[in-house]
Amino acid sequence: MLIVVGGGLAGLSAAITAARAGLDVTVIEAGTYPRHRVCGEFLSPEAAGYLDQLGVLPALKAQRPISIRRVQITAGNGARWEGNLPGSGLGISRYALDHALAEQARAAGVSVITGTQVKRIDGNLRDGFRVETPTATLHARAVIAAHGKRSALDKALNRAFMRRRQPYIGLKAHFCGDIPPGRVDVHAFPGGYCGISGIEGGRVNVCLLARLDVFQPCASIPAFVAWMAAQNPHLARFFAGAQIESAWLSISQVPFTPKSAVEGDILMAGDAAGMIAPLAGDGMSIALRGGMLAADGIARWCAGEIDAVALKRGYQAAWRREFGGRVRLGRFLQASIFQPPVLAFGLPLMNAVPALGRYFITGTRAAA
Ligand SMILES: Cc1cc2nc3c(=O)[nH]c(=O)nc-3n(C[C@H](O)[C@H](O)[C@H](O)COP(=O)(O)OP(=O)(O)OC[C@H]3O[C@@H](n4cnc5c(N)ncnc54)[C@H](O)[C@@H]3O)c2cc1C
Repeated sequence: MLIVVGGGLAGLSAAITAARAGLDVTVIEAGTYPRHRVCGEFLSPEAAGYLDQLGVLPALKAQRPISIRRVQITAGNGARWEGNLPGSGLGISRYALDHALAEQARAAGVSVITGTQVKRIDGNLRDGFRVETPTATLHARAVIAAHGKRSALDKALNRAFMRRRQPYIGLKAHFCGDIPPGRVDVHAFPGGYCGISGIEGGRVNVCLLARLDVFQPCASIPAFVAWMAAQNPHLARFFAGAQIESAWLSISQVPFTPKSAVEGDILMAGDAAGMIAPLAGDGMSIALRGGMLAADGIARWCAGEIDAVALKRGYQAAWRREFGGRVRLGRFLQASIFQPPVLAFGLPLMNAVPALGRYFITGTRAAA
């Protein structure tokens, strides 16, 4: 049996892929479906392609997602750059997306256990694994850990990145508001940026990442949002005419420090293996593809085609090859967008040299 820890995008993609390869798969997910998540809810063109491969696209299209073909970046001094995406992305809520993937996993024969947190994983590919939840111990031949950005499980696994404080907070809410159709906007403010794009049902998703030092001086989330809107005229215009339709969701300690894609004999997938800066709009794509890569490797190991060493080395190398450069470029772009003077110089440069904008857009993603 293969146990997948975490039923987000990476875990469910891995589970569907492994079940299709004939493996007996159980997903253990701490939360339930459907539910809202902190996410920009912009699915890049290649993420949409992976969802098609997983057989989920028809269910998502039935929800009438927004087709997104353009991107705009703005700075606090009003400067802006706008360009085309290399294909058509989708605006769809994580509420709909994760639920559709979980349904597809169940249809593929995966056992999906919800409301259950994995506390501990012990073992190896030679002797098998013990996966402990508060109520049971499960046994597996292989484990894929897809438990997201940061979890108590990372502490139990003694992962190095947990020893560093991560000074970032993420916020997200749905709004009713006026935005240009088919465009995702990234508005910068000192120490952060705010993504705005349409999702199904005519709603607008607002999601931001900020450094703690700019968030903490504000007394509340609404006070912070008011401060942020005052830092960029494009944001001020949006919030002046928008009404909030949901509660704000928040996450803290968002980690961008490098992680290992393999811990002991456990393959890590999605944000658990490494996180691309959200402004790249490609974390979901990397999670979906990473889950597929991990499941493919384990299916080959189970079939006796490769040994454990080749499985781990091959997966780590594939992760670095497919995602390493994109994650590094995303980190560089995020560091630049956090600095208003850099952006005030960079956006006019991107307007003057269109190839530069195209490079930043294509360099953070796989070919669609
Ligand atoms: C502010 C922000 C905005 C973003 N915007 C975008 C965007 O617009 N487009 C894009 O492509 N990407 C975006 N991303 C990135 C994207 O959200 C992630 O890359 C993606 O969700 C990763 O999927 P995952 O499956 O690895 O993790 P998740 O989707 O987080 O899933 C992990 C799952 O594991 C479960 N879990 C955790 N611990 C345990 C445990 N111990 N036992 C059992 N289950 C557990 C959790 O409940 C969760 O369901 C954004 C990220 C942030 C922070």
